[in-house]
Amino acid sequence: MEGSHKNRLRDRIVDLFDEKLSKRYATEISPRFQPPAVRPGEQSATTYRICKRCVMDSSDPEITFDDEGVCQHCRNYDKQIALYVKRDAAGWAEMEAIAETIRKEGEGKPYDCIIGLSGGVDSTYVAYLVVKKLGLRPLAVHMDNGWNTEIAVRNIENVVTRLGIDLHTVVLDWEEFRDLQASFIRAGVADCEIPTDHAIGAVLYKTAIEKGVRFIIGGSNLATEQMVPRTWSSGHGDWRYIRTLQKQFGSKKLESYPHYTFWEHAIYWPYVREMRMVYVLNYIEYNKIEAIDLMKAELGWVSYGDKHHESIYTRFYQTQYLIEKFGADKRRPHLSCLINDHRMTRDEALAELQRPPIAEEIAKTDREFVLKKLGLTEAEYAKVLAAPPKTYWDFDSDEKYFPDKAYHWALHNLDLLKNPVRVLSGRAWKSVCDGFAAGFEWLRVKWLFIWLWVKILVKLPFRLAWRILKRVIARPKA
Ligand SMILES: [Zn+2]
Repeated sequence: MEGSHKNRLRDRIVDLFDEKLSKRYATEISPRFQPPAVRPGEQSATTYRICKRCVMDSSDPEITFDDEGVCQHCRNYDKQIALYVKRDAAGWAEMEAIAETIRKEGEGKPYDCIIGLSGGVDSTYVAYLVVKKLGLRPLAVHMDNGWNTEIAVRNIENVVTRLGIDLHTVVLDWEEFRDLQASFIRAGVADCEIPTDHAIGAVLYKTAIEKGVRFIIGGSNLATEQMVPRTWSSGHGDWRYIRTLQKQFGSKKLESYPHYTFWEHAIYWPYVREMRMVYVLNYIEYNKIEAIDLMKAELGWVSYGDKHHESIYTRFYQTQYLIEKFGADKRRPHLSCLINDHRMTRDEALAELQRPPIAEEIAKTDREFVLKKLGLTEAEYAKVLAAPPKTYWDFDSDEKYFPDKAYHWALHNLDLLKNPVRVLSGRAWKSVCDGFAAGFEWLRVKWLFIWLWVKILVKLPFRLAWRILKRVIARPKA
């Protein structure tokens, strides 16, 4: 009962923002704060439906279809591609203009941008484009989470040597990291890659700040990496959520784990530091098969087989845990992207899905290997699989306090909220601001704004009035 008043108020505010937002943006920025109505893995066979265009089906508990039988992921895909993917000459010219800015700002510095390097296809190809096609001087950053395979290590070595770039490797504290990964599995949530993904984000941004660089060139691309249902994957940037799971299911305190707060990624990095993430793969006709051939020939890169299978943990997570516990087959969103990108037909994708996600013998050795490495027993894992699936919305998170839409709306629309940030981000204020930000990092930003404006708008006139009144009283009578 306790939080119901707070929740009602929050919902009303979000509703208000929702209406304004949908008018302003053609595409959905993020789902409004609302736990899914149906849990993953709970749909019955009688309600089974599959999209007429792609292969997304009711294993996404929130899937909806329009009159033509096409799912919301496909419609959203079209919007995203139209808005952000620029594969023509004009798009590349835009990318070159960005590169020019990066080069200019980087003059006199050892590096002009940061790239993440996992050794996988996308990040390696980004390294190639950044050096060979854009003429930038990146620092490659690799995060070793303890699951690197020999091929990955060799690939990374080959790439940095052949491209002549520096490599900065951050090795996570294995005992701490393994405990966190195990916590996610014990919690029974769908996205168990968050411990890795969150740390990579933190490592990239923090290295950039350390090296005095504003630009990070990322390897995500909208053409092949979207359509993942939010019930399968939510909470990457949510430090409060990660901390909550660790507190509840872990046995170690996260002391050295690289992380970032809502305040850092929503305000401090983009608006105070003015850092930019540039997704170069959205500016080219990205053909993976051609990219792989080129990398093999020019960088000595070696293939891993299937997508994201460069780590045994990832392979176990995608081909066993997600499927067995949530009925969620990551191949579906991936193949659906390829269909929408006209790189595969729907029939080919359906045939692909008929194949088992992994050979049985490999599945068994993978499971044994991963559980042993994480310190989980078979019995404990069986219990996790049998328990009802949990979602991001079952736990405390930043999203509960900062509904994403409300926050975006505020930043885009309210000068009242925007101006203090812009003022603080002015070059002259930078050093003052850095100290300020470090000192007040613990302050939730909304409270900072409210505090600022209460102080300015409410307190100041009162103080002025009080001063005038005091003067009037103190004025000697003639
Ligand atoms: Zn679809």
